[in-house]
Amino acid sequence: MELWQKSLKELSDLISKKEVKPSEIVESFIKRKEEFEPKIQSYVSDLSEKALEEAKQKDEELSKLEEIPPLFGIPIAIKDNISTKGIKTTCSSKMLENYIPPFDATVIEKLKDAGYIITGKTNMDEFAMGSSTENSAFFVTKNPWDVERVPGGSSGGSASAVGAGIVPASLGSDTGGSIRQPAAFCGVVGLKPTYGRVSRYGLVAFASSLDQIGPITRTVEDSAILLNVISGYDPKDSTSARKEVPDFTKAIGKDIKGLKIGLPEEFFSEGLNPQIKDMVLNVAQQLEKEGAKLVSVSLPTAKYAIEAYYIIAPSEASSNLARFDGVRYGYRAKEYKDLEDMYMKTRDEGFGAEVKRRIMIGTYALSSGYYDAYYLKAQKVRTLIYQEFMKAFEEVDVLLTPTTPDVAFKIGEKSNDPIQMYLSDIFTVSVNMATVPAISVPCGFINNLPVGVQFIAKPFDEETLFTVAYYYERLNDFYRKFPNS
Ligand code: GLN
Repeated sequence: MELWQKSLKELSDLISKKEVKPSEIVESFIKRKEEFEPKIQSYVSDLSEKALEEAKQKDEELSKLEEIPPLFGIPIAIKDNISTKGIKTTCSSKMLENYIPPFDATVIEKLKDAGYIITGKTNMDEFAMGSSTENSAFFVTKNPWDVERVPGGSSGGSASAVGAGIVPASLGSDTGGSIRQPAAFCGVVGLKPTYGRVSRYGLVAFASSLDQIGPITRTVEDSAILLNVISGYDPKDSTSARKEVPDFTKAIGKDIKGLKIGLPEEFFSEGLNPQIKDMVLNVAQQLEKEGAKLVSVSLPTAKYAIEAYYIIAPSEASSNLARFDGVRYGYRAKEYKDLEDMYMKTRDEGFGAEVKRRIMIGTYALSSGYYDAYYLKAQKVRTLIYQEFMKAFEEVDVLLTPTTPDVAFKIGEKSNDPIQMYLSDIFTVSVNMATVPAISVPCGFINNLPVGVQFIAKPFDEETLFTVAYYYERLNDFYRKFPNS
């Protein structure tokens, strides 16, 4: 087995025992990257050289260290909407094409303290708006299992890189599904933590009441290890929760006997590929055989989640993106008549079509006269969704659903039909609306294309997610499979 085939846990164990050096690990992943990256294009900024230099410094440090931090010498890729001091953070937008943040996001500070090595910034849908990474202003990232297909989005670069095995783990962000949906398409594990669990400080805001940063990894245990590092209260983020952070790895390996698993009937109805339905129900049956109890539940308002989301998220986006005005930072149009013309040309030239569409929808929904009919109504729907989830969790410990209605689609297949694109998040957005945590885990393949199953838990109960997801993962060996280069 080569080093790049190992999980983050296996790699950090080898480093702790001083059996391999960080530079050997980084070199192995660079070799894999050279094979795969030209085909998938997961990186906006490839920092391999810097990573190797850093790894060599860490080789020296390692020999002197007594206590080894949890991610010491581990290469990790970062979605390009997470601020990295001194490293371009573009959000895959022309608007921020040359923007270099003067500060680190809180998650980056935490990763640095834990000893990680950044390998690059990954491609994404512009400002995290999209489900295929086709909305990047730079280029389209491909799915490592079939390069004619999308990797999903908006964290498509982060998922594709882990799926291809060019890096053992990455960070993404999830506003309506952008960690879980690409994780499902690329055959890896994606976690959307509870809203408030992970600091958003330094994450370029899309829809602030929904955005969360989370890990994309090969295994469930690796996800728990990363969540341990990036979680916790942060005074720099006013929505960060004052909650104690348990050791999530303690949830790994626990039994699931008696665990109540809810199957929400609305998530198994029309629009779902029948083969995916069978596979996900098969996951439920496997867990039942292991002692879990299956319970049928109903979340009737969840079917309005997409509609409500596409009012709330664009409304928040239209407000958040007002800061890109050509004055404070980022792109400014070259020629203009006066200040207003400068604003207009800058925003016209700097933003892509999907971002403009969201700004227009959001501005419309928030304007006086429409606010009550759209924004307020959508907020009421959101409250109902939240209440239905909480009611379901009075009966069950965890919910089990498909992550996506279908496998990865062909590049170009949905790019001219925004509604079809929006529907690819049908099983993920209600989770963000309800603020709860969810994880997508590989559960098999259809014609060599990965399929994901989603587990959803109550607020701040990521531990139950890790317990059940790990238990399921170890019943099969999907996590050991890599695409052929
Ligand atoms: N695909 C959804 C959207 O376009 C979700 C994106 C996300 O989670 N960042 O808004």
